[in-house]
Amino acid sequence: MPRVDADIKLDFKDVLFRPKRSSLKSRSEVDLMRTFTFRNSKRSYRGIPVIAANMDTVGTFAMARALSKHFMFTTIHKHYSVEQWKQFASKHRDCLPAGNVVTGEMVEELILSGADIIKVGIGPGSVCTTRKKTGVGYPQLSAVIECADAAHGLKGHIISDGGCTCPGDVAKAFGAGADFTMLGGMLAGHDECGGETLDRNGKKFKIFYGMSSDTAMEKYAGGIADYRASEGKAVEVPYLGDVEHTIRDILGGLRSTCTYVGAAKLKELGRRTTFIRVTQQVNYMFS
Ligand code: 5GP
Repeated sequence: MPRVDADIKLDFKDVLFRPKRSSLKSRSEVDLMRTFTFRNSKRSYRGIPVIAANMDTVGTFAMARALSKHFMFTTIHKHYSVEQWKQFASKHRDCLPAGNVVTGEMVEELILSGADIIKVGIGPGSVCTTRKKTGVGYPQLSAVIECADAAHGLKGHIISDGGCTCPGDVAKAFGAGADFTMLGGMLAGHDECGGETLDRNGKKFKIFYGMSSDTAMEKYAGGIADYRASEGKAVEVPYLGDVEHTIRDILGGLRSTCTYVGAAKLKELGRRTTFIRVTQQVNYMFS
């Protein structure tokens, strides 16, 4: 008989941070830099742990240059030529995470098999259709809470991958215990992105698509193999110009979250987090 797990699992939209006493006087006092030494490779990392996803629209060399100015990194998509890679890699470092999983036992298995950083998230992505096509998934906030607990017990690290729609969601991912947070849709639509720019009645849009969408499969594999279904979609995102203002919005939001809960460092955010369950996050009167 199939088992039904009756515990309620939560998404970013289901919670808010409970504000806490804070002695911080300004958002500028908040330190977002993290330093990690990885369990298996013993390599170390220092930076602001927000990552651009390895999608060919956002995981570009141009995005990596823009994010690296803020000590953030980009997982570069795999469709650049060897020559393009050689040129880029001579000046930048790389990182190779394992995943994606959503349960503590899979995290433990991957870490014990030698992985350092586990990507957490099945189905939360903005252009992902996995949950519709397969019925498989796990609400992202609960996935992060459970997987972070499992990883940290073994001194491993996790990336919350997908599902962030606004800076508050990025903060919630860190509050839930993510060491890194990976973004696709929030970084789409910018100058640094790959993909076509379209003009629709004088308004500019950029194409953004999932890496398992028909669009990506046509582009890189000559179509979808006849034994599988596409698990992604393509959307037109309003053109947003330089990614710099979006980065500042995300990092500014994150600093602000930290001041509301009294965390002087991003490192302290998890410990200072109490989530409250809510039925509505914002006022929709003028949306
Ligand atoms: P977002 O930040 O846009 O919500 O999520 C980005 C993440 O969505 C990526 O890092 C990747 O894990 C996931 N993703 C990207 N393309 C696809 C796709 O075509 N199908 C699925 N299932 N997930 C995708």
